[in-house]
Amino acid sequence: MNILVINAGSSSLKYQLMNPDTGDVTAKGLCERIGLDGRLTHKVPATGKKVEKDIPMPTHKEAIEAVMAILVDPVDGVIKSVDEIDAVGHRVLHGGDKFVASCLIDDACKQAIRDCIPLGPLHNPANLMGIEACEKAMPGKPQVAVFDTAFHMTMPPKAYRYAIPTKWYTEEHLRRYGFHGTSHRYVSARAAAMLGKPIEELKLISCHLGNGSSLSAVKDGKCQDTSMGLSPLAGVPMGTRSGDIDACVVQFIMNKYGMTADECLTMLNKKSGVLALSNGVSSDFRDLEAGAAKGDEACRLALDKFCYEVRKYIGAYAAALGGLDCLVFTAGVGENGPANRAAICAGLEFLGVKLDPERNNVRGREVRISTDDSKVQVWVIPTNEELMIAQDTAELVKAAQ
Ligand code: AMP
Repeated sequence: MNILVINAGSSSLKYQLMNPDTGDVTAKGLCERIGLDGRLTHKVPATGKKVEKDIPMPTHKEAIEAVMAILVDPVDGVIKSVDEIDAVGHRVLHGGDKFVASCLIDDACKQAIRDCIPLGPLHNPANLMGIEACEKAMPGKPQVAVFDTAFHMTMPPKAYRYAIPTKWYTEEHLRRYGFHGTSHRYVSARAAAMLGKPIEELKLISCHLGNGSSLSAVKDGKCQDTSMGLSPLAGVPMGTRSGDIDACVVQFIMNKYGMTADECLTMLNKKSGVLALSNGVSSDFRDLEAGAAKGDEACRLALDKFCYEVRKYIGAYAAALGGLDCLVFTAGVGENGPANRAAICAGLEFLGVKLDPERNNVRGREVRISTDDSKVQVWVIPTNEELMIAQDTAELVKAAQ
C-alpha cells in the first residue's frame, strides 16, 4: 500500500508517501510560507534527490495541489498517477474527549474536529484545511484522522481532571488532554518489542523531548498520565514554552503591563522556556550546550532547569505507576542529546536507573543506554509518528473495504 501522510500546520504542510508495512518512505517534503508566497522542498530518499521550487500557495489547497503535481511529475515524481495513492492519513492535533482512536474521515468526523477548534485554536483549523484540500485534490480517496490526544484518553479521572469548578469541566471540557500521543504510542510499543515483553506487563515512562516536550506514564500499554494539559503549554519547560507555572503569573503580568490574556499567553508560548531562561540566546538545545560550554551561566541554567524538571516528572510518574521497568527517550533532544540524558538520569539511581556512559554516547539510533545490571532499562528510540499514522490509516481503510 502507498499511504500519503499529511501534517498540516497554519503556514506549512509536511508530507510523506510511505509503505505502512515496511516503513519505507518513497518521497517526503515540506510546503512552507502558505498564505505568503509558497515554497516546496521535495526529497526522494532512495536517490537522495532534493528539489526546491517557489510555487504560489495562497491556501492549503494550492499546497496540496503542488504536492500532488510533484509526486506524479515525470522527472521528479515517484508515482505515475494519483491512483497509486491508496489513502491519506492526517495528523490532527486535538480530538477533545471525542476520539479515543484514529478514525475514517467523514462529515461527522470533520464536524467533531471543527467542534474541537476552541480547544486547539492554532492547529485544528489548519488540520481541517489539509483534509479539505485533499478532498478537493483527490475526490473519493479514503482519509483517516490520527489525533495527538487519542493515546491519552485512557487516563483515569484523577489524572485528567483539574481541581477547578466542575461546571468548567462538564460544560467547557476543561481537562488534561495531553499531546504527542502518536509518538508516545509508537515508542512505548517499540520499547516493549525491544524488551521482548508484552506491553501489558510493563510500567514505562516515555520522554518526548524536542522543541515541544512531554512525558507519559504508561502501564498495561495504556497512558495513565501525561505532562501536557488542555494545551501543549503545560508540563516541562520547552524551547519557547514556559511549561507549568502558577496561574497568578498571568494575572500579575496582565495587571502590571496592561497585557491582554492572549498577549500574555503568546509570551508564555513563544517567548518563554529555555529561550527565556538563556536570556534570548536560543530555543535550540545545541546552541544552549555551546553557550554553556563557553561559560554562559544563563545557558547553563536553562539546561539545568530543563533536565531538573524532566527528572522530577520521571520521579512523579514512577510513583504514579508504582514502579518502573523502562525509561524511553525520543524526539530531537531525547534522541540526540547524550549530555541532557545523562543529566536527567543523574540522581535516579535510587529508582534503579543506571546509565552506561559509553552506550549513552549515541545519537538518533535505537539503542539501550542503561548498564546490563540496571533494574530499569533505559532506551533511545527514534520516534516515527508518520509510520504510526500510515499504519493506522492502512488498518482502518482495509477494515472498511
Ligand atoms: P524536535 O522538535 O523533535 O524536532 O526537536 C528539535 C530540537 O532537538 C532542536 O531544537 C534541538 O534543540 C534538538 N536537537 C536536534 N539535534 C540535536 C543534537 N544533535 N544535539 C542536541 N540537540 C539536538
